[in-house]
Amino acid sequence: MEFDPCPSLENCQFFNCLNLSGVANVLKNLYCKLRYKKCARYQRKQNGELVPEKLWPNGQIVGEK
Ligand code: SF4
Repeated sequence: MEFDPCPSLENCQFFNCLNLSGVANVLKNLYCKLRYKKCARYQRKQNGELVPEKLWPNGQIVGEK
């Protein structure tokens, strides 16, 4: 598959958080490096919506109770 990195990689709180589980690293490869247009964070940003800090690319909000 062609490498197609997200334009928000450098500033993304999810991508740049080193303190996440192995699952997050899988998502970073799946979304951030290959299919960013499917990312919930990217889509919200494109729509001008707020992007919650803890929102993951798959739409899950992790770590909020
Ligand atoms: S989490 Fe989404 S917005 Fe952030 S770098 Fe990855 S694909 Fe881009």
